[in-house]
Amino acid sequence: MPELPEVETIRRQLAPHLEGRTIEAAEIRDWRWTRPADPGLIATELTGARVEKVGRAGKYLIWALDGDRHLLIHLRMTGALLFDPPEEPPHTRARFDLDKGHVLDYVDPRRFGTAHLLHGAPARDAYLAERLGAEPFTPEFTAANLRAQARGRTAPVKSFILDQRRIAGVGNIYADEALFRAGIHPLRPAGKLTPAQWERLRGAIEEALAAGIDAQGASIDDFRHVDGARGSFQDRFLIYGREGEPCVTCGRPIRKLYVGGRGTYVCEHCQPRPRVRR
Ligand SMILES: [Zn+2]
Repeated sequence: MPELPEVETIRRQLAPHLEGRTIEAAEIRDWRWTRPADPGLIATELTGARVEKVGRAGKYLIWALDGDRHLLIHLRMTGALLFDPPEEPPHTRARFDLDKGHVLDYVDPRRFGTAHLLHGAPARDAYLAERLGAEPFTPEFTAANLRAQARGRTAPVKSFILDQRRIAGVGNIYADEALFRAGIHPLRPAGKLTPAQWERLRGAIEEALAAGIDAQGASIDDFRHVDGARGSFQDRFLIYGREGEPCVTCGRPIRKLYVGGRGTYVCEHCQPRPRVRR
């Protein structure tokens, strides 16, 4: 699933193609994409709209349109946006004809992606505030903020950092990469981390995300750039997906376990397992 670095990669690639362009025609073929809104009504409203800015919040891509309208796109599992594909790709769920003959296709084999059109910045902000916690790389993303939210929580720290209402944009890959960088076991109860550990983890989350952005995202599944190319972060994972391989720090084999049902990679030497009190 695309996480913050993958969505940010799409945003950076899409912005120069889309900003200042007019959507001359919009065709939405999948009612699920815009539900509960009627896809025909959304397509009508998008037709003639001018894209002023392509932004991002957490894993949401945000097209700011003229008239203070905001289209929030979430790619979920397999969503992709392809600019000027050589031919129409399979699983195209929406097609946008742009000015000067350009085309943008929204492709989604598994159809979990969503699009919401919101009117006015307050509606946009309220929608996002309900769903997203602290955004990495902003001043609100502090160790003190994270620690305050985690106080008294017994859930594993990995589940805490995957919760979008706590931290925006981190998913399974970058959670494992960050916890490894911080030397923290994913099963450690979130409420038990020390201030020093929160500071390390905060920094490690931003380092892992920045490395992912630098590599233009990870393509372990369907993630594609707007020109169809793949990201390269999957070749730079420190821990994710490396079960049985030697830890880059200590050489001991990496283990796979499950935390909250999610496959999780850990070096139990560099990330000591929390002691269980009996
Ligand atoms: Zn190790």
